[in-house]
Amino acid sequence: MLIRRLIIAGVARSHKVNWVAMQTFDTIILGAGAAGLMCAITAAQRGRKVLVLERSNKVGKKILMSGGGRCNFTNLHTSPERFLSANPHFCKSALSRYTQWDFIGMVRRHGIDYFEKETVNGLSGQLFCRESSKQIVAMLLAECGKAGVDIRSRCETGVVAHREGFHLSTDQGDFASEALVVACGGLSIPSLGGSGFGYQLAEQFGLRLLPTTAGLVPFTFSDARKDLFARLSGLSCEVTIANRRTSFREDLLFTHRGLSGPAVLQISSYWKPGETVEVDFLPGENAGKLLAEWKQDHPRSLLRTQLSYLLPGKLVHEFEALHWAENSEKPLADWPDRRLEHVARQLQAWELKPAGTEGYRTAEVTLGGVDTRDLSSKTMESSIPGLFFIGEVVDVTGHLGGFNFQWAWSSGYAAGLEV
Ligand SMILES: Cc1cc2nc3c(=O)[nH]c(=O)nc-3n(C[C@H](O)[C@H](O)[C@H](O)COP(=O)(O)OP(=O)(O)OC[C@H]3O[C@@H](n4cnc5c(N)ncnc54)[C@H](O)[C@@H]3O)c2cc1C
Repeated sequence: MLIRRLIIAGVARSHKVNWVAMQTFDTIILGAGAAGLMCAITAAQRGRKVLVLERSNKVGKKILMSGGGRCNFTNLHTSPERFLSANPHFCKSALSRYTQWDFIGMVRRHGIDYFEKETVNGLSGQLFCRESSKQIVAMLLAECGKAGVDIRSRCETGVVAHREGFHLSTDQGDFASEALVVACGGLSIPSLGGSGFGYQLAEQFGLRLLPTTAGLVPFTFSDARKDLFARLSGLSCEVTIANRRTSFREDLLFTHRGLSGPAVLQISSYWKPGETVEVDFLPGENAGKLLAEWKQDHPRSLLRTQLSYLLPGKLVHEFEALHWAENSEKPLADWPDRRLEHVARQLQAWELKPAGTEGYRTAEVTLGGVDTRDLSSKTMESSIPGLFFIGEVVDVTGHLGGFNFQWAWSSGYAAGLEV
């Protein structure tokens, strides 16, 4: 028997390949998430016979859960700078061939009402369904139905062989195809389908993998900060958060375990264990100047009184206990300038050292993955002819704000034109 590669031994052992009963397709796609469904639609619209195999009981689980149930399906400001990858140029071709406007066009054709989210910085470019993320899944399934895509869920797959095409053994039968598209996503949130299957496949076919880590994920703390943040749990405020590589001005949320909110999720993708991050609680202000002005204009006032006009009272109270307990009842006029400058630095560059992140359990994305050096940026085809990788399994990760779905749509479309 010409079986070259035994990829997933579990399935191969429990399921003998029935070569006679094998059903054949032009393209088989593994994973019915955002990228897989978009690829299926594109390929089937070109007249290809497409089969999508989904391991989970439902298709598009992450789409359903995304954006708080309203799916932040793209971002008006999508551009290559919003993506992390060992090769920052890799995403350019796919993003330009299927843009945010293309996806918005599909959303509009299906009559789905959407809105752009307003943030502290004004309009964010983030587009959400007004009603429900179910509408995006329904739209993709309607397009699949119209184009004649065959979708099978609850299907455990093992790629058995690769010889003049791909031969798959599954617990729902045996399938063969000319092209195989791996759209299994990353490791984030196993209960929503996150699996290492795509990486395993890449490895088995000799493709290079870059180390994976959890991205867009809350920070945890183990020192005294943890108790402090727990006391502030539920409180949110606008900050600038920075490390040596980048900075983000967005909301920060205190939690029982540490820090979350858009600002923290964004910087987490640029954070390495052991590093510190700096938080500016008065973004856009010059705290040193501000405090000096308060001393001059409101000499009888307490620092906490003035600060409470700008920051949540509870946060000011904790800062006071931490940084100026000894001066808490002193009017500003009695503060030495040096002490005020010190407090200003703490407010504007508070150094924090996270113990870690919440990991894949709550991460929105997986950083790293299939090395783009082994993929064509135009088609997503790997160095193994006929084998494609799309979506999150690839080493391309977007910022928070709809960019990850746009990558799924764009990379899925690029492969769909080719398979
Ligand atoms: C809670 C949450 C909220 C998010 N919100 C947003 C948002 O609002 N906007 C945004 O842009 N991004 C968001 N993201 C990120 C976004 O969901 C992902 O980037 C995107 O879903 C990746 O698409 P994908 O198709 O590559 O992978 P996935 O959507 O993860 O799809 C992969 C599919 O493959 C299936 N699969 C896995 N293993 C196998 C196997 N062995 N055989 C067959 N099938 C398999 C999985 O069950 C899954 O259905 C969010 C992520 C999470 C976790």
